[in-house]
Amino acid sequence: MDDDGRIEAVTTWDGNGSEDGWLALPGMPNGHSHVFQRALAGYGEGRSGQDTFWSWREAMYRLANGVSAEDLRVIARAGYTAMLAAGFTSVAEFHYLHRLPGTAPAETGAIIAQAAAESGIRLRLLPVYYECGNFGKPARPEQARFLHATIEEFLQTLEDLGRHAPGFAIHSLRAVRPESLEALVGGATAMLGETVPIHVHAAEQPAEVADCRERYGCGPIALLGRNIELGPRWNVIHATHADAAERQALINAGTTVVLCPLTEAYLGDGIFPATEFAAAGGRLALGSDSNVRLDAVEELRLLEYGQRLSERARARLANADGLGAALWARLAQGGAAPLGMEVGRLTPGYYADFVTVDPESPDLLGSDGPAAALDALVTAADRSAISAVYVGGRRLSTRLDRDLAARYGTRTRALMGSGA
Ligand SMILES: [Zn+2]
Repeated sequence: MDDDGRIEAVTTWDGNGSEDGWLALPGMPNGHSHVFQRALAGYGEGRSGQDTFWSWREAMYRLANGVSAEDLRVIARAGYTAMLAAGFTSVAEFHYLHRLPGTAPAETGAIIAQAAAESGIRLRLLPVYYECGNFGKPARPEQARFLHATIEEFLQTLEDLGRHAPGFAIHSLRAVRPESLEALVGGATAMLGETVPIHVHAAEQPAEVADCRERYGCGPIALLGRNIELGPRWNVIHATHADAAERQALINAGTTVVLCPLTEAYLGDGIFPATEFAAAGGRLALGSDSNVRLDAVEELRLLEYGQRLSERARARLANADGLGAALWARLAQGGAAPLGMEVGRLTPGYYADFVTVDPESPDLLGSDGPAAALDALVTAADRSAISAVYVGGRRLSTRLDRDLAARYGTRTRALMGSGA
């Protein structure tokens, strides 16, 4: 490695000195996270009639409007440590919780950056522009913490964040008017450069697509493409309900679709046709989104199994040699685009971000060689088979500090528990 933690050469192991087993994988880049939503784990699961994404969003708003700067510090620190234990070594944080009592937007961004640095995870902070309620309607009072009043104000936040924010996001076509896109993208690009990643949520929910069609006569991804030029630095989160023409436009533009299988299942979003998209040359990456369950192995399993269930067939994202290696490699390599970094491969020039798999894991005992172990990892095991996590060549602790765990529990119960 060089001093920056990048790989200079990969050599054959001489059989000495390894404490972590014999199988290393590129750490999974996490292409989409809202770390504060981790505190929703265990809440909002009761049946109340109309239980949809939109009713879940009310619980999320309750959390978002309750957290203090100190809460965010604790939740983010604990969340990133759990993310590392889950096999993710870098994260694109889609950060829209800008305004907490007593903090300016740039300060909440700095809290996230500090939490990531303390945990050791590699961060791409993406401050999010959010300007209105549903498709041009005025924002609701509970959305106030997410808002910037003008594009100029948002650009000022980017400038104030300086080195912490080499990228940005547009919340969605619901929350940003299409007529704002050109000035927003132009202004941010002038400040940050032509190559930084841009992220946007789109086509996650059928109601969102219906509202967009009613107002603009097309779906949100088509609307995006009418107002800006999509390209390889664009990353569309979910795209679950994109139509065939929209998916083809993403493929043509080299735009990455970031899938978040556990969250898309948790929220009842639906299943993206990943097999077809990948076969047509589409780029895919993985995100943990809500972070309620953090496990890169389970994300991959649910991605593959969702395709199997909807297509009633097996080995959807596999190749002739198997499933695990092909699936892990595809999603890890795909993560370089949303992160905008050389991550997701163990090759010279890329960061030495990797995880090792424990071949003594009870779920892998019968595996004969690396390919079988990776197939067993994805079908039979979970994050507990990960024996060590390295970022920039440095072996990190993924154990949650006891004091931090206690504070996380106390604060989350106060925010979300029945006494709240
Ligand atoms: Zn999201």
